Amino acid sequence: MNKPMTPVPIAGGATLTKEWRIAAAAPALRGSPAAPAPAAPAPAAHPAPGSPGAGALAAALAQFDAAADQLDLDEGVRETLRSPHRELTVRFPVRLDDGRVRVFTGYRVQHNVARGPAKGGLRFHPSTDLDEVRALAMWMTWKCALVNVPFGGAKGGVTCDPRAMSPRETEALTRRFATELEVLIGPDSDIPAPDVGTNAQTMAWIMDTVSMHRGYSVPGVVTGKPMAIGGSNGRADATGQGVVYTIEEAARRRLGIPLDGATAAVQGFGNVGEATARLLHQAGVRVVAITDIGGGVHRESGLDVPFLRRFMQERGTLAGAPGTEPIDNEDLFGLDVDVLVLAAMEGQVTAANAGKVRARILAEGANGPTTPDADPILQDNGVVVIPDILCNAGGVIVSYYEWVQNRESLFWTPKLINGRLREAILAAAAAVWERADADGIDPRRAAHAIAVQRVAEATALRGLYP
Ligand code: NAD
Repeated sequence: MNKPMTPVPIAGGATLTKEWRIAAAAPALRGSPAAPAPAAPAPAAHPAPGSPGAGALAAALAQFDAAADQLDLDEGVRETLRSPHRELTVRFPVRLDDGRVRVFTGYRVQHNVARGPAKGGLRFHPSTDLDEVRALAMWMTWKCALVNVPFGGAKGGVTCDPRAMSPRETEALTRRFATELEVLIGPDSDIPAPDVGTNAQTMAWIMDTVSMHRGYSVPGVVTGKPMAIGGSNGRADATGQGVVYTIEEAARRRLGIPLDGATAAVQGFGNVGEATARLLHQAGVRVVAITDIGGGVHRESGLDVPFLRRFMQERGTLAGAPGTEPIDNEDLFGLDVDVLVLAAMEGQVTAANAGKVRARILAEGANGPTTPDADPILQDNGVVVIPDILCNAGGVIVSYYEWVQNRESLFWTPKLINGRLREAILAAAAAVWERADADGIDPRRAAHAIAVQRVAEATALRGLYP
């Protein structure tokens, strides 16, 4: 039962409820509306040390520093590229279904725009904070440079739990967040896309909100939209498709084996993980295990991935799918498979569990799933790591194609898009493997060196304003 609300008069004759004021001062958790609000401070302007995203930011900076050392980068350029260019933190109220109002915190960080408009996803997740968004924005800068799309890097997010919110609450949160972001976003300035906890529907709400405010349709303000409102063929599967292309290439170059007949395990069964598992399965790979936030499934003779997709749509979890054994993440990481795909969150394979990985290829479908202290352990054990800024770049490549199609109002066929995606990501992969061999460095450092060099060159050519 909802607690009755006490109206509080405010200027102009309108009223606020007492709950609005309580929720604004100390956001209460859904499901405990009647509990008196604890005396918590208002959200801090900056996350405290040890914040959830601090590990991700430390990893991104360590990877950048290694590449900067490799390139012997000028101090001034190093300082510029190490720092996020622009950061926006917003706090905004949303009315919940039980009538209360809760204040949410959202972020948008543009790391670097030397090579073009800022580009990067929006994440809705309970542990999203400013440091995590800073790290993800920096990785976007390097990813766009590595695959040669003319964008800078950005990322955004809202600290919230979309799994505990109704569709109406999610829509209200999205539309208000889009409104707050309008000082930054636009087809020429900053173009969001889906990430963890967001999807094509989220992008449709953002596109509609911005279009309502401008008075005309602005499809190019976001990518990853539904096809019916200017989305692109191939965007939904693009990240997973790119993961599969980079795995195929690494298997061929480094192991000399074809995909057909290989074995794989996948962590995460969302946008990236589901598409990767399904496309690997289609390519003849025996996918033996998949985990997700709600549990995992294992079947040594191979999982029926299309069936699991339907099971997930109906039940919201993989756990308990018929004909499978349960498995957790730690056991999945230790499976004796050819390919381990990490397609969930940051910081999954660390120094503590890297020694357990028996896969021959570790494909980083997620951003930052391997911590810097895990890298040397994986390398010593001969695990071929396909670094995130290469492995999951298929999404931003096809996002770029979507943005071009929106600008031209001319739409491309699936065949054209998939062919261009394959060509673009394999060109980047070739550059990474060749740089790694030429300089005797691991593929992550090679990928970062190529990307940082391109951004540094753009920065130097543009010069220092004013
Ligand atoms: P998503 O929200 O669609 O899916 C995330 C998946 O991870 C879900 O299946 C969730 O259950 C699972 N998960 C979360 N925590 C887990 C845990 N502890 N153990 C096992 N599974 C867990 O998100 P997504 O869009 O698929 O993104 C996944 C990763 O890929 C993120 O790092 C994201 O930044 C990155 N990425 C996404 C895209 C894109 O196009 N969506 C592009 C490039 C990179």
